[in-house]
Amino acid sequence: MNAAYPKMQLERRKIRQLDEASANRIAAGEVVERPASAVKELIENALDAGASRVEICFAHGGKSLIRVVDNGHGIPGDELALALTRHATSKIDGTDLVNIVSFGFRGEALPSLGAVGRLSVTSRAVGEDEASFISVAGGKIEPPKPAALAEGTRVELRDLFHATPARLKFLRTDKVEAQAIGDVVRRLALAAPAVSFRLTDESDGSLRELFRADRETGDWFDALTGRIGRVVGPDFTDNSLLVDVTRDGMRVAGLVGLPTYSRGAAVAQYLFVNGRPVRDKLLTGALRAAYFDLLSRDRHPVAVLFIDCKPEDVDVNVHPAKAEVRFRDPATVRGMVVSALRHVLAEAGHRGSTTMAGATLQAFQPGSGRRYQMDRLSAATVAASYRFEEPERVFGELLVSSARIEAVSDEGLARPLGAARAQIHQNYIIAQTADGVVIVDQHAAHERLVYERLKKQRAENSVASQVLLIPAVIDLSEADRSRVLDASGMLASLGLVVEGFGGRAVVVREVPSLLGNVDANLMLRDIADELESTGTTEAFEARIDAVLSRMACHGSVRSGRRLNGAEMDALLRAMESTPFSGQCNHGRPTFVELKLTDIERLFGRT
Ligand code: ADP
Ligand code: MG
Repeated sequence: MNAAYPKMQLERRKIRQLDEASANRIAAGEVVERPASAVKELIENALDAGASRVEICFAHGGKSLIRVVDNGHGIPGDELALALTRHATSKIDGTDLVNIVSFGFRGEALPSLGAVGRLSVTSRAVGEDEASFISVAGGKIEPPKPAALAEGTRVELRDLFHATPARLKFLRTDKVEAQAIGDVVRRLALAAPAVSFRLTDESDGSLRELFRADRETGDWFDALTGRIGRVVGPDFTDNSLLVDVTRDGMRVAGLVGLPTYSRGAAVAQYLFVNGRPVRDKLLTGALRAAYFDLLSRDRHPVAVLFIDCKPEDVDVNVHPAKAEVRFRDPATVRGMVVSALRHVLAEAGHRGSTTMAGATLQAFQPGSGRRYQMDRLSAATVAASYRFEEPERVFGELLVSSARIEAVSDEGLARPLGAARAQIHQNYIIAQTADGVVIVDQHAAHERLVYERLKKQRAENSVASQVLLIPAVIDLSEADRSRVLDASGMLASLGLVVEGFGGRAVVVREVPSLLGNVDANLMLRDIADELESTGTTEAFEARIDAVLSRMACHGSVRSGRRLNGAEMDALLRAMESTPFSGQCNHGRPTFVELKLTDIERLFGRT
């Protein structure tokens, strides 16, 4: 029947109970995937023991050595052997798997580690006169011996996977494994701001400190902010918004980055559920959704977010590594995260990131800023956080070409975006604020305004459309045509009326009035692209926003259009009162600001 199936396996053999060592090896397969997972388990144990100091040391990407030392409450000598056996834990009594307050509870980590490496534990429990030492190799536990240790616990794991060459082969290079360890340490350091952490690499006898964070004090938010500065960088705390929303017994709190302070990969997203670091698709999806129209697809928000809910509303016992969780009501959790983030992002309105001003300053400086050291801002952070588009081009020309000076009013001086003073290169508005200068990219800004207005009209079901005097007949590919026609109901609700027109053509009869004189042909092709890339998997609302965003792009004041003083001021005022106006729909800033102090620095006045 099934020739490929080995005959041997079809013969029934007797059922038997596996011994403890085999069971541990099997469990270890899930618990200890790589050195970083061992580090995670050991740090979690230290935190569960109430340690205020955790020191982690490793060599060769953790393959030859992992050592975690803590000053927690320790393990009494007569319980050491038990700690190394499977399903032995001091953290739960087994009656309640719901109210779990510790990181660990499965009693699997130590026995698993003992099954895949040479494990030893030295510990001195609070109140005991001396410490004890125990070791396990190849699944065999040696009897405990007295040892010297002032306090806490010291766990050492050597030669990870030495007995399972197959696993060893799957490990990456020492460098990559070391990075994974660093990542685990940083995530747990965020989870426990009141604990000191130190991570060192001890390969080849050298001792290199890779990360250090001293214990933070103050209330949770203060401590967390301090810790975030250490872990993610002070740049981030300066360029992020505080979130703290509690609703229906659930709290979403933390710092989220300004859209203009984004990354090229989703590397700086730290999510916690009830204090536990998680990698959860639902939550990263919610994060993406919140920034959806503030960032282009290849940019990723930076965030440190703690989601706290009632223990019964989330199951942490989904996977042995406990990095996954299952919410009882995923839709509510997602909705709450998205709306909390949207709210603070909207309130931040037109704020752009300070690294932007830094990039601007650097563009002005001879020798790329070597003469003036910008504090807390390196070229690398600017490059990493945002790709500034040829600032030399824009601002270099500014210095030599004649600006158009308008007869302007001082009315806007006290406003955040100031009073318009001039328009240069028919796209950049120069405005004066109380304490600086603002340069606005009029095309990017207008695109955002049109988009937000379209969204508002749609939400109110009042998108006004205008009938084209001459309907536009457009030839599309077969696939594009059917995608557009399938979406025609949705498009009509957005003021874009499209019908089939025989062959491969469609006809555009009406467009949203807000867009003014658009090139219907170009716009429809862009929308067809958008429909293709969002596919049908995206939520309906997300697709609508994507389409609106494309429309706005076509309806905005193109660069090249001259604006008079009143028009410029009107644009600035509209930006101030429009949510999310600090960045265009692709996450580029709509304006940069130079403070007077920055300008003075340029001239060496300070
Ligand atoms: P779990 O953490 O799920 O309980 P582990 O196998 O990781 O299971 O640890 C077993 C037990 O050993 C823990 O319940 C705890 O009592 C004790 N233990 C392990 N590590 C430490 C430590 N660093 N300090 C104090 N006790 C520890
Ligand atoms: Mg544990």
